[in-house]
Amino acid sequence: VEPAALVDHPALRLEFLTRTLAALVRTPSANPGDFEAAMARRVADLLAPTGAAVELVETFPGRPSVGARLGGGRGGPRVVLNGHMDTVPVGDRDAWSVDPLGAEVRDGLLYGRGACDMKAGLAVQIAVAHALAGDLARAGGELVLHFAVGEERAEPGTLSLLEAGFVGDVGVVTEPTELRLATAQRGAAFLRFTIHGRAAHGGRAELGRNPLDRLGAVLEAIRAEDAVAGATPHPLLDGGSCTATMVEAGIKENVVPERCTVVVDRRLLPGETAESALASLEARVRAAVGSAPGLSVEGEVAGNTFLPAEVGEDEDVVRDLHAAALQVTGGPLALWGTPYSSDVRNLVNDAGIRAVTFGPGSIDRAHAPDEFVPLDEVRTAARVLTEFTARRLLPA
Ligand SMILES: [Zn+2]
Repeated sequence: VEPAALVDHPALRLEFLTRTLAALVRTPSANPGDFEAAMARRVADLLAPTGAAVELVETFPGRPSVGARLGGGRGGPRVVLNGHMDTVPVGDRDAWSVDPLGAEVRDGLLYGRGACDMKAGLAVQIAVAHALAGDLARAGGELVLHFAVGEERAEPGTLSLLEAGFVGDVGVVTEPTELRLATAQRGAAFLRFTIHGRAAHGGRAELGRNPLDRLGAVLEAIRAEDAVAGATPHPLLDGGSCTATMVEAGIKENVVPERCTVVVDRRLLPGETAESALASLEARVRAAVGSAPGLSVEGEVAGNTFLPAEVGEDEDVVRDLHAAALQVTGGPLALWGTPYSSDVRNLVNDAGIRAVTFGPGSIDRAHAPDEFVPLDEVRTAARVLTEFTARRLLPA
């Protein structure tokens, strides 16, 4: 196959990509909300012409992730392309200037909830499958596609696909990176501290033990931890961070509260875990509450953790993606570390796949009103990943 012929495939043109992305944006898949079942059917329909073997893996009852395979079956190399089908909810409809499910195109930008995070990435994956379907049918290598549920809430959609055997040697997560090549990713853990005191009548407050008396000191401790976490150097990532995001206390105006809870969003660097972050911050919070009589502190990891992930810049997946970009765009890709977390952690940490993140659109547009993706970035991503996959899977 001539490289030039490959990137001229009709599936890599704006018309196909726009039509495919619009079909995905018009299929709501908010989590929580509509969830992913209709999207799973839509994805399966869009893949049907490729002849891919498509399997619905029930991550949760009624919420299937979609795994697909093209070519292969002869023990050859395998490439995984991974994306998630869920989006965050539309949010305040009045804050949008376009229909969030309309897939409107203005000045080369396609608008809608999930346009960049990350239905554009899914459209890219579908386009790569269309572009390579004919060649892969005759090749030993296998293209493995993930369309996962539940990424937005760190649910095990990608994990369930890996466990069902949708694995490979190298992987690319098509989350938005503005076409930068991300080899490192921060993680996120959520920590909850409960300060226990003793309730009393507000008119006899001295009989109680008010946890709010120490709240200021606890918030100071969280800021101190943030300064330390943020000062840890990493070549591609901002440091870690530690941000108080929720405080809850009190049941009535005239009651000294029995307890106060503080929730912290802790961004993790490679090498850190939720447990290590908890231990470090808990020591500070305990010191902040101090030896005040009648007050005690409990710390715990709350909710699902995204572990950080990283692969070396000298890995073959990085080299081949640069080479593919050079072929398609004439230049190498900028290296990046993603400040956000995604399922690349499952590929790298759980399945040992050498995986990076590369996709169209900006994370700054994600989760916000008037989310959009530039269609020329969608096309470039589809061309680069087609070239990358061909290099890995098709005989030269
Ligand atoms: Zn995403």
